[in-house]
Amino acid sequence: MSILIRDVQLDGETTQIYIDGNRIAEIGKKREADTVLDGRGKIALPGFVNLHTHAAMTLFRGWGDDLDLSTWLETRIWPAEAKLTPEDVYWGTKLACLEMIKSGTTTFNDMYFHMDQAAKATREMGLRAFLAEGIVDLHDPERAAKQFQNAENVNRRIEAMKVDRITPVLAPHAIYSVSKDSLLRIRELADRKGSLIHLHLSETKREVDDCLAETRMRPTQYLDSLGFLTKDVIAAHGCWLDPSEIEVLAHTGAKIAHCPVSNMKLSAGATMPYAGLREAGVAMGFGTDGAASNNSLDMFETMKVAALLQKFATGDPKVLPAAEAFELANLGGARALGIDAGVLGVDRLADLILVDPRRPELSPRHSDVSNWVYSAHGDVVDTTICNGVVLMRGRRVKGEAEILEKAARVAKDLVTRE
Ligand SMILES: [Zn+2]
Repeated sequence: MSILIRDVQLDGETTQIYIDGNRIAEIGKKREADTVLDGRGKIALPGFVNLHTHAAMTLFRGWGDDLDLSTWLETRIWPAEAKLTPEDVYWGTKLACLEMIKSGTTTFNDMYFHMDQAAKATREMGLRAFLAEGIVDLHDPERAAKQFQNAENVNRRIEAMKVDRITPVLAPHAIYSVSKDSLLRIRELADRKGSLIHLHLSETKREVDDCLAETRMRPTQYLDSLGFLTKDVIAAHGCWLDPSEIEVLAHTGAKIAHCPVSNMKLSAGATMPYAGLREAGVAMGFGTDGAASNNSLDMFETMKVAALLQKFATGDPKVLPAAEAFELANLGGARALGIDAGVLGVDRLADLILVDPRRPELSPRHSDVSNWVYSAHGDVVDTTICNGVVLMRGRRVKGEAEILEKAARVAKDLVTRE
């Protein structure tokens, strides 16, 4: 299948983008294609990469706001998640995919439960995804054994689907919820399988204090002491990283997914040290985190909040300028996941969006990148293409009404279920 996007703006010039299969095959020439999209007046941008989320948590959107992380997890999220069914995850992920398609995200890195159902939903919705069955052993060996068995089965089922845009990942939830033995076992599995590892790291002060009390090491040093950190690790948050931990991340090649909205909403109490991480050469991208702690999956909003948070926290408006924020939201995440996306060029994956700049909040166009980061929201996206397939055109996505209705129904059932 081929697509020609005719007369579209790319990097300030009007041009033609020709997609063959799942890649951009040519830029500049008008060619015959199976599908022709009229790009007149629109701007082509790379699709966003959401580097840390829990997609099916859309079901908990607005259910348990304004609480600290441990109260939120212990009184709202974990009790409800104990009753979570595969069908819930399927519809929650469908809803998340719908929201991501409508706000220009083409790839997401997800950690949750019943992930074969998340994979089924993602396969139907057309997005690119890295999916991990979360391992939370709570330092109980019996529970750990069951969870490993389950995670391996889920990953095997995802692999058996043979969808090239869906990749299984390993996900120990965090150092406080996963034992040392399990972390070592995950490291071994990742080496054997060549999988990525996705976890939470240094999100709260309590995590750092408890780790120091138990191991006399900070969380990043503790993981490094286990030989856990390598370039295949994507760690979400990193709010409380100190300079010694930044050094460890830089020399191990582990990556950070910055989730500014979730950190502010759950009052993490410290800001990810962006300038230090950048200076040390640590690879970074942006995540929304789950919709329960954000509450949207809009990467436009995340870019803006990330940039504002750094400026506010450091007292320096030059930190995290718009162009860097924009790059982290697509190329940063793509590099962290090792995919050939995040920038539009020949031979790159055809993961892109078309944005219509003829809107009051995007006028005038002194600086498009400033407009994307500081003024736009997800609804500026007109067309979303992932892996060479058009998922949204003129803001219409197939099956939208059914997804909204079914997801609302399972969400209501989930929080009232006995
Ligand atoms: Zn998270």
